[in-house]
Amino acid sequence: MPLKIAAGNWKMNGLCENLEDIVEIASSDAIDGIEVLICPPATRVRAAVDGANGKLRIGGQDCHGGSFGAHTGDISAPMLADAGASHVIVGHSERRADHGETSIEIANKVTAAWNAGLCAIVCVGETLAQREAGETMQVVLTQLKDSIPDKATASNTVVAYEPVWAIGTGKVATPTQIAEVHTALREALVARFSEGAEFSLLYGGSVKGATAADIFATADVDGALVGGASLKAADFTPILRALAASSTS
Ligand code: PEP
Repeated sequence: MPLKIAAGNWKMNGLCENLEDIVEIASSDAIDGIEVLICPPATRVRAAVDGANGKLRIGGQDCHGGSFGAHTGDISAPMLADAGASHVIVGHSERRADHGETSIEIANKVTAAWNAGLCAIVCVGETLAQREAGETMQVVLTQLKDSIPDKATASNTVVAYEPVWAIGTGKVATPTQIAEVHTALREALVARFSEGAEFSLLYGGSVKGATAADIFATADVDGALVGGASLKAADFTPILRALAASSTS
């Protein structure tokens, strides 16, 4: 069975004072039976690891495709691992859009993450224009193929389907739309990797406590990648409870 994972992506948010939300989540019984990961900005990874007290996983939001060198301002996978991270998000649509990252570059980052002992959370997703043009399947399956190198396993890679039009917009994909894409992603993973049936497949895009249960009841959804609603323990905890409930039902 794929691992049930709730991952919080704090994006460019998080100061010293926000550590209290991590401490609160780590001490809540809402994390029982599921894997909970929080990806704060790189400046807070070490503090988050300490605040999580071994109860939560802590990840980075991106890494460079190399390990060390003359890349001013970049963060490498070994640096994240050194700070105590266990995961790193790669290929988020905001990185693809804001920094022009290609799937080939993302595949290099995935390899760098693996070499540093990190699990890579690889994001794929279509824009609204691509969906309206009927290109969703082609876009996400091509991103999946090109962004994930051949040595992927269920323990070194997690896939997140994040329709770009649903991120930070309050528009959630319907269970039918999610199921259609997740089923296709699962089929592609099974066709390519011996552990394809075991990869965790997360949905991301405006997940909130009120919508989480329906999303987690959808075929081939093993958890969520959550942006805005992961910033506050009070907002994230209902999502964690919904995931835990879906694991036992
Ligand atoms: C994300 O950034 O990955 C995300 C899904 O954001 P939000 O939940 O705010 O839509």
